[in-house]
Amino acid sequence: MSEPEMNLTDLSALGEFGLIDFLTKNIQTKNKSTIKGIGDDAAVIEPSPDKLTLVSKDLLIERIHFDMMYTPMKHLGYKAAVVNFSDMAAMNGIPRQIVVGIGVSSKFSVEALNEIYDGIKKACEVYQVDFVGGDTTSSEQGLFISVTVIGEAEKNSIAYRSGAKPNDLLCVSGNLGAAYLGLLILEREKKVFEANPKMQPDLSNNDYVLERHLKPEARTDIVKLLNEKGVVPTSMIDISDGLASETMHLCKASNTGCIIYEEKIPIDQQTYDLAKEFGIVPSVAALNGGEDYELLFTISQNDYEKIKDVQDISMVGYMTDASEGQQVISNDNQSFELKAQGWDALKKREV
Ligand code: ADP
Ligand code: MG
Repeated sequence: MSEPEMNLTDLSALGEFGLIDFLTKNIQTKNKSTIKGIGDDAAVIEPSPDKLTLVSKDLLIERIHFDMMYTPMKHLGYKAAVVNFSDMAAMNGIPRQIVVGIGVSSKFSVEALNEIYDGIKKACEVYQVDFVGGDTTSSEQGLFISVTVIGEAEKNSIAYRSGAKPNDLLCVSGNLGAAYLGLLILEREKKVFEANPKMQPDLSNNDYVLERHLKPEARTDIVKLLNEKGVVPTSMIDISDGLASETMHLCKASNTGCIIYEEKIPIDQQTYDLAKEFGIVPSVAALNGGEDYELLFTISQNDYEKIKDVQDISMVGYMTDASEGQQVISNDNQSFELKAQGWDALKKREV
């Protein structure tokens, strides 16, 4: 898992300005709302008059949010950008610009930072986002990456967490739990490696879950699809902490209860098989595993026909009156209280 030996350049060799120039060369802007990108004291943005501007930030800290031992630098950059794009999608908006702050210790090389920037630039290319500025500073220890994203949404279609009503359908994009299983595999192989550095990590046959963890995607495609279908979610959130926790956020903000059906939770086959291998109930991984970055949203029942045939959207339950609480109906038809962490009752049950 360690990088092959090669000649690496100390950050001090370029100096701050040289480094910024090196990392940001060839960055071009493409969105019409971007008037001025990197190179002045501030970027200049002209939002569309008929839209509202969205702003969000995510801060990633080495050893808290990522482990340098098994995180390829390019993926780290990609992920740092994409998790912010996901926040725009979660508002039913589209990301347009990012600003990136980097704090970096002298143990990192110019080449390593360049890899991170390649990842960020790649994400910007894929999602048509302009990289318009940043700040660079040294840190005493470790790596910090702070990404601020600016996006836009139609005035009348912003999806807040607070808009769900009883009887609205609870929907989720894609499938859940995969990123968590990817993390478990990486953690397992790290332990093997630490115990015996001569052992090669066994990452074979687990491509899908590893990619879901290392290189997540933001569901801006779902935002576009809902828009095409004329559906405005009544509430929405992106799933960074598991279905249970995010559903509870929607319920709390909207003052509703909910019912989720275990059998309706979308789980990919590889995730399912690996969960079994790790001795975890697959739906527990989906409910409590993090970082899938899928969208969780509610729609009015009137909109059901418009999206019922979309393969990539699953209806997992519906919202209820707050007094009915937050419940999961298990495959064997028992009712459990939805909990954000550890679903003991189901964990103990053999599935
Ligand atoms: P200031 O002294 O005003 O903070 P800087 O020298 O830090 O200016 O930045 C010069 C230009 O380079 C600005 O446009 C800034 O947004 C951009 N920039 C600085 N650091 C980064 C970075 N890590 N990534 C992208 N752009 C950066
Ligand atoms: Mg600066």
